[in-house]
Formats: sequence, structure tokens, C-alpha cells
Amino acid sequence: MSKPIVAIVGRPNVGKSTFFNRVAGRRISIVEDTPGVTRDRIYADVEWLSHNFTLIDTGGIEPDNGDVIMSQMKEQAQVAIDTADVIVFMLDGHYEYTPADEEIAQMLRRSKKPVVLVVNKVDGTDMPSHFYDYYNLGIGEPIPISSVNILNFGDLLDIIVGYFDESSKEVDDEEVIKVAVIGKPNVGKSSIINKILGENRVIVSDIAGTTRDAIDTPFEYDGQKYTFIDTAGIRRKSKINEKIEKYSILRALTAIERCDVCLIMIEATEGVTEQVTKIAGYAHEAGKASIIVVNKWDMLAKDNHSYANYENSIRDDLAYMRYAPVMFVSALTGQRVMNLFEKIQLVSNEHSKRISTGLLNDVISEAILLNQPPSDKGVRLKIFFMTQSGVKPPTFVLFVNKKELAHFSYIRYLENTLRKNFEFTGTPIKTIVRERK
Ligand code: GDP
Ligand code: GDP
Repeated sequence: MSKPIVAIVGRPNVGKSTFFNRVAGRRISIVEDTPGVTRDRIYADVEWLSHNFTLIDTGGIEPDNGDVIMSQMKEQAQVAIDTADVIVFMLDGHYEYTPADEEIAQMLRRSKKPVVLVVNKVDGTDMPSHFYDYYNLGIGEPIPISSVNILNFGDLLDIIVGYFDESSKEVDDEEVIKVAVIGKPNVGKSSIINKILGENRVIVSDIAGTTRDAIDTPFEYDGQKYTFIDTAGIRRKSKINEKIEKYSILRALTAIERCDVCLIMIEATEGVTEQVTKIAGYAHEAGKASIIVVNKWDMLAKDNHSYANYENSIRDDLAYMRYAPVMFVSALTGQRVMNLFEKIQLVSNEHSKRISTGLLNDVISEAILLNQPPSDKGVRLKIFFMTQSGVKPPTFVLFVNKKELAHFSYIRYLENTLRKNFEFTGTPIKTIVRERK
């Protein structure tokens, strides 16, 4: 089940970032040892009453931009409508709502998404005198909060998570492999999707307010069901708006969150750019299976070593993702495009592969014999056993005598051993170290 997404929208200065930072607090997940990945604070993993969700700050509107504020607000709201399960529409309690707010409210209403109207900066017990006017926006009861004083957060979070059961009706059909095609504008995402779906296939138009399921594209190939995730953002081709880098990254992010397999597209003539590194980092941290797809291969003059050289340079740039297969394709000529499916199936299987505890411990015992666990001040790391606690991605729990002794380098050694024996092609693996007295 993919995590629900909650997006905050609202005019500049209403307090979105303050709210975001307060809710996220320290819980912004920072995954160690992913070199080259700087995680901007666009999103945070939040836990409330055993509900986990991803909170997104869609901020980034320049307050000084006068004329363009409205169009940016609309784009911001559209991103939220396309990607979020619940939208928090935030107003500043010091002011009455503006015509711009009204327009956004109307957009949100039409989307049929759950929207929570939040009035921020209600710092004391007194309600602003115009508080009841907010009802006129037609999106239900306004919830007063103070982000600065952290007031009423509990009630608000209760309301937000209350929508999840309703919105998570998106049944996780185990039979379907969910594929996200991720990459910068012009890398060839639509071309490759159209190639796969068949050039002549009529693609349903995006009508504002259609549900998220409707913007996913289901299809079947060779007896296997697939769904392309969030291709609306790709098809809409709002090139101008997508230039706002943050939005294209946000779209990518939420698509990654919901997929099983991520096709990370690279332009052959460019190689690994900073944006690719960022996106690949997200996919890795989110524990998704990945395939690196080098598109526009037709544009490169090749000698016999091209593939190997190219692949090596990608491996160097994306060192934390050595597990991902690299495919060289051309969406233009169709070269090897359909071979992608074999790989998608492979990595999807690997992503949900389970290894029995018995087999796992045979392998781990041998690894321990070959390379003794580290010791510190006369105490040696003792490994009792390992068990697989989950899939998507494969997750292992390692029971040890002392957690501090389980250095990263040794864990990596064990993980490499797992890969040597069980491959796990295309998927990250996670190891959790637990102490057992
Ligand atoms: P954003 O542009 O919507 O992200 O707004 P910010 O989070 O940057 O906040 C804009 C300003 O409002 C900052 O000066 C904040 O300190 C202030 N602010 C945010 N939340 C509150 C609040 O709950 N009460 C008061 N009094 N000020 C707030
Ligand atoms: P998107 O923005 O990622 O969806 O990219 P598009 O699919 O719209 O492709 C952008 C441009 O690149 C279009 O002009 C395509 O015809 C071209 N293109 C896409 N794939 C290939 C390819 O494999 N080879 C070449 N030479 N051009 C391609």
C-alpha cells in the first residue's frame, strides 16, 4: 500500500512552511549514506496515530511576483489535485479571504478531493471577527490553528487522517505492476509511453476533477497487467509550468511514491545530470525497484565499447544504485523498447522476493566465517540471526548483541553477500539492526 499524500496549498506568507516544519519536526527522514542526494525539504514522512503519510509543501511562490501569483497558485493547486490524497488549503487568519483564495477554493471544490480548510495564525483563544466568513468558501468547516504556537494540530491531523480510509480505496492489486516513468522534460517519456501503448491508441483527455485512478493508464502485455502512474502530468505537456523545476520534481516524487518499478530516464547525449541524481535518490530512498533507461540511443555514434563505457560511467555517477539494470533504448525507432518488459518483470519479482530464514542464516553464517565481525574495546559484534521482515523492498532484521558495533561497513558487507547469493536485481534492500540481550 503506498503512503497517502497530503499537500498544503495557499497564498504566500500564510504560514505553509512554518506549519510544514512544525509537523515534520525531526521526522523528516534522512537516509544515511546516499551520496550525492540532497533532500530538499519539500516533503516529510509524518506519523500520526499509527497513520503514516507524506506531507508536501507546495510553496515556492515568489510573493513579489505580483501578476504571476495567481497563475502560480493555480499550478500549485493543480499539482496538489493531481498528486495528493488530501489537500490542506491554508489561509491567514489575520485577513479575510481574497478573490484569489476564492478561485483556488473553487478549483479545489471541483476536484472532488478531500480538502481541509485551515485558518492559520489564530494564536490565542480569540477567533478573528471575520472567522465565519470563511464558511462562504464552500469547502466546509474552517479549522483554526497556530503554527507558531502549535495549537490545535491534533484536531487537524485527526481530520486529515480520517480521510485516508476513504481515499485509500485504491486497492493494491498485487497482480498489477505499477510503473512510473520519470525524467526531465523532453527526455522522451511520452514518446516511450506512446510507443508502448501503440501509436494509435486514443488517450483519454485529462478533465480537471477526474480521480487519480483515471489519470493512471492500465494496460496488459504478454499476460501481465501493468499501470503507468501519473502520466497525466506527462501528457498534459504544460511545458511552461513544468519549467518550474520544483513542480516537475514534485510530480516525479509522488509518482515514485505510488509505483513499484521506476523507469529512470536519461538522455543518451547528456548522461547523468543533477536532476537524475536527485530523482534516482528519491527512488532509492523510497525503496522502489528501478531500471535506468538511456533513451535516444539512436543519436549516439557507437563503437564496440559504447555500452560498457556508458554503463560504467552511470555506475560511477549513481554509485548507490548499482543494483539497477541499465537499458539502452530509442523511443523514436522503437529499438529495445519492448525488451523493457522483461526487465520490469524481473525487477518487480526481485522487489518482492522472500528468502527463507534457514537459507538466509546459512549464507550469513558463512559470511561471518569469511570475514569476522568487528570488535571494539574487547567486545566483539555477535550476530545471532537474520530474518526477512518484509518485501518491496526486501527488508532484513539482523539481531545482534550490541547495536553500536554493527558498523555500516560490516552491514554493507552482509548486504553484498546477500546480493551475491540472491541477486535482488533492480531493488534496494534494507537492513534493520536490533539488539537482543
Ligand atoms: P508560507 O509562505 O505560506 O510558507 O509562509 P511562512 O511559513 O513562511 O510564514 C510567513 C510568516 O507568517 C512568517 O513570518 C511566519 O513566522 C508567520 N507565521 C506562520 N505561522 C504563524 C502563526 O501561527 N502565527 C503567527 N502569528 N505568525 C505565523
Ligand atoms: P517528454 O517531455 O519526456 O515526454 O519527451 P517527449 O516524448 O515529448 O520527447 C521530446 C522530444 O524528443 C520529441 O521531439 C521526441 O520526438 C524526441 N525523442 C523522444 N525519444 C527519442 C529517441 O529515442 N530518439 C530521438 N532522436 N528523439 C527522441
